[in-house]
Amino acid sequence: MSELRQNIITREWVVIAKERAQRPHLLARRGVPPAPLPQYQPDCPFCTGNEHLTVKESFRLNGDAGWKVRVVLNKYPALSPEGDRVRHIDGIYRSMTGVGIHEVVIEHPRHDLSPALYSDAEMADVIDVYRRRYADLKKDPRIEAIIIFKNHGEGAGTSLVHPHSQIAAMPIVPTQIRNRLEEAIRFFDEMGECVFCQTLRQELIARLRIVHETAHFVAFMPYAALSPFHLWIFPRRHSSSFDEIFDHELEDFAANVRTVLAKLYHGLNNPDYNYSIRSIPAHDGHRDYSHWYLAIIPRISRTAGFEIGSGMYINPTLPEESAEFLRGVHVP
Ligand SMILES: [Zn+2]
Ligand SMILES: [Zn+2]
Repeated sequence: MSELRQNIITREWVVIAKERAQRPHLLARRGVPPAPLPQYQPDCPFCTGNEHLTVKESFRLNGDAGWKVRVVLNKYPALSPEGDRVRHIDGIYRSMTGVGIHEVVIEHPRHDLSPALYSDAEMADVIDVYRRRYADLKKDPRIEAIIIFKNHGEGAGTSLVHPHSQIAAMPIVPTQIRNRLEEAIRFFDEMGECVFCQTLRQELIARLRIVHETAHFVAFMPYAALSPFHLWIFPRRHSSSFDEIFDHELEDFAANVRTVLAKLYHGLNNPDYNYSIRSIPAHDGHRDYSHWYLAIIPRISRTAGFEIGSGMYINPTLPEESAEFLRGVHVP
């Protein structure tokens, strides 16, 4: 029989399809590996030397040999930086001007790398730039929520191979964030504790789904993982906004993320994935009920009519088995 599990953070149910569970190693990407990429590609807008191909630069982290990380405005932005936030109401319909900031973080000057192959210091540079941009974008009074995310690979929604991620500063709080927040408040009202802290404590006692631990962060698979190798990385210290991270925690976070991405890379043959930093709305500050974290979703299984029709996911893997598999992947 399959099993339904509830994600206590979102209250969503997931079908864990135990009877047709696939063994973790069988989910590795198959086929002939693509030809190695060049370090520099003449027509790539993100390669070092091609800076003129990008639109306005908003930040640059420099090293001894030129830039290490650059942030530029997205050439095809979902939101535009000019203008005011104006709402329109037409009967039951609501609309709003599409103001906001949509940036691309060019993570590395080299074309052929991906986070799994960075050094921990290079990953820390990327996270440091996320934090700086987050803190800066938050000052814009039009901004309600800041989403930091990465699409790695075509199956995750990107065709540009040069390592990059994105930041979207939005004029509204998206429903998904609001729903999570409301659930977290409800849990706090009832239990008097942060649901994320309690989840982490239970995971650290059970030790069934832990993937990687560092001094300040824990990577684990959610009990109700919605898809194969769905991962969360939680700060051990209760903290609701990503930009509250301290310097020494930032380095530890980068090392943790880098190791987990390298485990996916080596264990599953470089799968496509998305990651996203989930943080409290921009102006909410520190709250006892909300806890920021990173979610990583490898794009291994496809969603179909069942998911569209029910909003529920079918996970054809056991989170405990997948976690055990990843724990065993040696990272060079
Ligand atoms: Zn490039
Ligand atoms: Zn907490």
